[in-house]
Amino acid sequence: MRELEERIRQDGRVLSDGVLKVDGFITHQVDPFLMKKIGQRFGEIFAKENITKVVTIESSGIAPAIYTAEALGVPMIFARKAKSLTMTEELLSTDVYSFTKQVTSTISISRRFLDATDHVLIIDDFLANGMAAKGLTELCQQAGASVAGIGILIEKSFQNGREFLTDAGLPVVSLARIANLENGTITFLPADDQEVDGGQ
Ligand code: 5GP
Repeated sequence: MRELEERIRQDGRVLSDGVLKVDGFITHQVDPFLMKKIGQRFGEIFAKENITKVVTIESSGIAPAIYTAEALGVPMIFARKAKSLTMTEELLSTDVYSFTKQVTSTISISRRFLDATDHVLIIDDFLANGMAAKGLTELCQQAGASVAGIGILIEKSFQNGREFLTDAGLPVVSLARIANLENGTITFLPADDQEVDGGQ
């Protein structure tokens, strides 16, 4: 998605350890106009998949996920990282190792919101080693729900997340794919944001 790539070039900052900082438009301050266009693009890509829920993880996945859910006309669920006192019902839970925070946390979704009739689109801001997407997939599996695919805003293709997820049979669609962040320069691969048609 050309507009996302241009914005990453303009406002993204490379941290020395292979981490890209996008806090001016995705992860802290959020550009709602760009997020809406991203949601509409994922809506087009997954239009034929009969998605019933969009699932993400708090907090930076929420903005693109809500616009994707709007585009598909379905609810959005975000997995919580900390258990809230108000989450009294039965939970779907799994542990996820955070690439940026370097800690393992338990993520949860109330069992009430996902079941075996659901066909889920997972959305997240970044794909590094695929641990967040794997954790969200596990929550869907616990509910008996199927996963149509994983929509990513920024894939760091020099890490093994895409391979890990596609090897597990999960289609990955990334709107921007970064080949490397060497010498503080962002080098893109061609994006793969073609329409997904699982033939359902
Ligand atoms: P993974 O679970 O695929 O290893 O890492 C993806 C998660 O780590 C995303 O949810 C995102 O929060 C975070 N992440 C991974 N790489 C980066 C990065 O380069 N920049 C930022 N801001 N977050 C990242």
